[in-house]
Amino acid sequence: MEHIASIFNKKKLKLTPQRLAVYNYLINTTAHPSADTIYTDIHVQYPTMSLATVYKALKTLVEVGLIQELNVGEGNFRYDGNPTPHLHLQCLTCGKVDDFNNFSLDNLNSLAQEHTDYEIVSNKVYFYGYCKNCQ
Ligand SMILES: [Zn+2]
Ligand SMILES: [Zn+2]
Repeated sequence: MEHIASIFNKKKLKLTPQRLAVYNYLINTTAHPSADTIYTDIHVQYPTMSLATVYKALKTLVEVGLIQELNVGEGNFRYDGNPTPHLHLQCLTCGKVDDFNNFSLDNLNSLAQEHTDYEIVSNKVYFYGYCKNCQ
């Protein structure tokens, strides 16, 4: 709690109960939920919180870099309480998104740079397959 307060303070972000609830929810899950899922789960504890408020809180938290937004190509975003760059996998059957641990493509930008006159600054890579339960 104190930790979150100091993070919010450092980012000059007002610690509203809504932002706090959304942030707390995200740092305690590795499920990479959508805004709808977050809303449904948080709504139990915060019945007055609307989906629009959840969206607004997510937008703010992404802007200050406390969380990250993932676009695995579903038409809506997934959210990750871990803002540091890491790779993700999505299951094509059940749709879950997992962290790809013990594997990184940190040198991908410089590899790509060797093949273009663009100045490469970023990339987005997602892996797709079938999770253990769905194989
Ligand atoms: Zn699956
Ligand atoms: Zn992640």
